[in-house]
Amino acid sequence: MRLLYIYREKETNSKQKKSDTMQSYEKLLLENKAWATEKVKDDPEYFHRLAKIQTPEFLWIGCSDSRVPANEITGTQPGEIFVHRNVANMVVNTDTNLLSVLDYAVTHLKVKHVIVCGHYGCGGIKAAATQNDFKMVLNMWLRNIKDVYRLHREELDAIKDEEARTDRLVELNVREQVYNLAKTSIIQRAWKQNNKPHLHGWVYGLKDGIIKPVFEMPAGTHIDPLYEYDNL
Ligand SMILES: [Zn+2]
Repeated sequence: MRLLYIYREKETNSKQKKSDTMQSYEKLLLENKAWATEKVKDDPEYFHRLAKIQTPEFLWIGCSDSRVPANEITGTQPGEIFVHRNVANMVVNTDTNLLSVLDYAVTHLKVKHVIVCGHYGCGGIKAAATQNDFKMVLNMWLRNIKDVYRLHREELDAIKDEEARTDRLVELNVREQVYNLAKTSIIQRAWKQNNKPHLHGWVYGLKDGIIKPVFEMPAGTHIDPLYEYDNL
């Protein structure tokens, strides 16, 4: 009898939990319906137009952090920015996901600008600056950020305040990821054939909502010749 009671109590709890979860995701679907209705009310052709063609001018490579939504912080609408996000906005040359997005955006959509946008207070950057073991596969990913730290160790180690040091690593990481874009044959071929896209390194401030441009690389910029392909 007691066992049955416990079982029933457990069942009720799990039903309760399930209904809480349902409510949270169902709210998203309800919000979506309200949003779609509002859009059509303002502009009856809105979705017909969007469904036909996609011609964004920008590719955004940002952090997966839920506090940095590309469209919202730039005041852009669906159709205006092609978006790729990962932990700490990395451009890793063996990441076929990122490279596919880059190739499609640059070679086929012919975007004019590629933006790498990091953010101050980035958890991925903070984690990489520690000696903690985050286990597979995070260790693998964070290793790429540790390499950035090592490249700039002299400058970073001289900054005594921890928050200021991490903020600087965020900026330097964005710069290195822009360099990484320029090292790809995708970007170099587009520069040679179309003189675009221009590359931008930005950092978003969680505390004030302001984006700070920290690094620019106009189309055609020369980098270390070791990375430049001469037979594109
Ligand atoms: Zn982040």
